[in-house]
Amino acid sequence: MPLPPPHRRPHRKLLIAAAVLVTFVFVHLLNRPDEVPSEPAIASELGDIIKQQQQQQQSLLSESEHERARTESAEGAVVSAQSVIAELQIEKEESSSSSSSSSLDTSNINTHTEDQQIIIKKLQTSMHSHHSHSGDYVMHAKDHLEEIVQKAVQMGFTTYCLTEHIPRNRLADLYPEESKLTITDLETTFAKFYAHARALQTKYAPQITLLVGFETDYIRADEYSPLIKTLQNTYKFDMFVGSVHHVASLPIDFDAARWTAAMQKAGGTPRALFAAYFDEQYAMLADLRPPVVGHFDLIRLFAPADDTARPIARDWPDVWAKIVRNVEFVIRYGGLFELNSAAIRKGWSEPYPRSDVVQLIMQKGGRFCLSDDSHGLAQVGLNFHKVVKHVSQLGLRELYYLDLDDSGEAVVRKDEVEKLMTDPFWTQYDKLW
Ligand SMILES: [Zn+2]
Ligand SMILES: [Zn+2]
Repeated sequence: MPLPPPHRRPHRKLLIAAAVLVTFVFVHLLNRPDEVPSEPAIASELGDIIKQQQQQQQSLLSESEHERARTESAEGAVVSAQSVIAELQIEKEESSSSSSSSSLDTSNINTHTEDQQIIIKKLQTSMHSHHSHSGDYVMHAKDHLEEIVQKAVQMGFTTYCLTEHIPRNRLADLYPEESKLTITDLETTFAKFYAHARALQTKYAPQITLLVGFETDYIRADEYSPLIKTLQNTYKFDMFVGSVHHVASLPIDFDAARWTAAMQKAGGTPRALFAAYFDEQYAMLADLRPPVVGHFDLIRLFAPADDTARPIARDWPDVWAKIVRNVEFVIRYGGLFELNSAAIRKGWSEPYPRSDVVQLIMQKGGRFCLSDDSHGLAQVGLNFHKVVKHVSQLGLRELYYLDLDDSGEAVVRKDEVEKLMTDPFWTQYDKLW
């Protein structure tokens, strides 16, 4: 669509709003074939939409950019409106391709483009990931934190959580690649991560809701419990991921040799190691009540193939009882279980947790969220389509995600899996459903 001459530009927002409104109603009706509303219902819905649009226009004109973005992201509107998005994106590209040397008032166009981005964001189904790392702040990851945020924006994520690992408190806990670091280095690195993440949260607020958090370790409960509480008092976090990466103080997700060493220390059998893992996880859950539970069954990653795939409920009822206990506890306090796609890039055909645990959580009424657990640009959103397809085949109807409300507090919101699968977000993946 060609840009109108400068003297007509003040009306442009109203025209865009009208176009969005008509297309919105059209697409909205198209998406609800089983639910044909009566005429008064349409009129009433139309009235609500007009009111919302007017309020939106008002807020776009009157609020600061940052406040505006917060308001929009907090509303969490979930409507699939591919045609509206496509139309606005075309206009956006045309606007931004205009040369600054033309007679047009480009500052006005830039403002307009930002407005369009906010409208685009409002009409998309939300897309979210609750767990990420970057090469800036952890040695086993790649790429800069800001590049990872930019990639998430570019892919169309609406919520993305920045959750670097907490500083560990003993040199014995460092991984081989960290051998030259000190405990102070870890603490300084985490402080830098926090400041950087908060700065990015503000900088990218018009485009994406970033939540700033951390991922736990819980290597020794008596040391890590106060350590994590001190961290929470020192910084203010929007959320965090509660994970266990060690059993009997030894890492269980680094390699098979260390997994085996942990097994020997935990009693000498995979069954004993699994039991110890779920007990240490329970201690962490009971102590911290994490809003998001990280890779629930990570203990399976380096287990011998038979044990990874083992039907635990049938073969190891004692271990299963611990899993049930942990799941029930998380459901009672309201935590989200992440469906963590990192398991797929590590060779599994499904995310953490595996289907048996997903089905247990579903039976008990637990809530799931999505995480890519990315450790670099190439892993942002990686295999999300496989995760969503997998859980929809298991019968999962709803996904949940964290968002920030008007006051900046984290809140839990819900998406329908069926609706999520129609989002234009998925067109960037090969081999879809
Ligand atoms: Zn982890
Ligand atoms: Zn992680």
